[in-house]
Amino acid sequence: MMINREFASSIKRLMPNSQRKTDLDRPVSIWREKDRLRGYPETTMVAIFKTTGCSWYRFSSCSMCGYFNDVSSEIRSENLKRQIDIVSDSLEDVKTLKIFTSGSFLDPQEFPIEARDYFFRKISGKVEKLLVESRTEYITESNIAYLKDFGIPIRIAIGLESANDQIMRNSINKGSTFAKYVKAAEAVRKMGYELRTYLLFKPLFLSEEDAIADMIDSVRKSAPYSTDVSVNPMNIQKNTMVEYQWKKGLYRLPRLWSLARILLESKDFGTQVVSYPTGGNKERGIHNESPDPNLLQLIYDGSLNQDFKELEDYYKSADKKEYFASLAAEQINLSQPDFERLISRTSNASVLI
Ligand code: SF4
Repeated sequence: MMINREFASSIKRLMPNSQRKTDLDRPVSIWREKDRLRGYPETTMVAIFKTTGCSWYRFSSCSMCGYFNDVSSEIRSENLKRQIDIVSDSLEDVKTLKIFTSGSFLDPQEFPIEARDYFFRKISGKVEKLLVESRTEYITESNIAYLKDFGIPIRIAIGLESANDQIMRNSINKGSTFAKYVKAAEAVRKMGYELRTYLLFKPLFLSEEDAIADMIDSVRKSAPYSTDVSVNPMNIQKNTMVEYQWKKGLYRLPRLWSLARILLESKDFGTQVVSYPTGGNKERGIHNESPDPNLLQLIYDGSLNQDFKELEDYYKSADKKEYFASLAAEQINLSQPDFERLISRTSNASVLI
């Protein structure tokens, strides 16, 4: 059984019942960042389209995903086309583009074929490398074969999150399995596309040591299928089960030292391993006991250049006694408390559960 129904229902209860009023013709956001989609670092455009949302929301959501905060059931192909115009006009001289929706770009219910075709026609001749993301159920040979006709090299991204089905079921509520990922990954490879695998570092109910082991194992298992594997440390999004636990002090975000360990350990597994943390060194993102801008920058630079030598030197020369003590303390607890937050809550006499 790939779904833990009780867990899925608890997540569903936290999702808002009503949708925010929003401009249907504007993407959720567009920005530029560095990535290495063509095998070297370069400026890449990132766009998140506003859609009707992930098909998984009809049942529940993943425990860390707050994309449902940005969806609208009123979005039609005409709205998507106007959003596409905005993205296309923003490209200017940028040649690589990453597309996200609040779900799956390849889901024809969420992103109708008519809008998909319009998108490809609009960016053709401008974009030289494209990344699109999708759940595995939409990555079938028949659904992706014709994308080649547009002549743009494509990397398809899958949010595997973890290669461990128990973690996917009981910590993430992904509604998928490693076997489904493998099937989709084989279709991607067979049809001649590249594959990016997204992993989630430190989902709920895992100690940090166990989460590190899960990431290393997941990179190893997904490497044979992947052009690159992106390790995404948890960040706290609104109205999610992760936010709910975190606010009570029952979840501690992962530490940058742990991410460095994962990258150093898995860099030679035969795929490119990258990590560009969202919200690093901030309250809602990955952070050590104290902020460490140097470490975050070395993780970022090592990923971008695929050269982790400086990160390794920094890691080896640092005093990490406090870090290992925190992990050891967490390892003997059933939950992964954020001690500072937990103490502040209990001292305010708040109810914990
Ligand atoms: S599959 Fe993706 S978009 Fe859908 S709920 Fe999970 S993380 Fe969010």
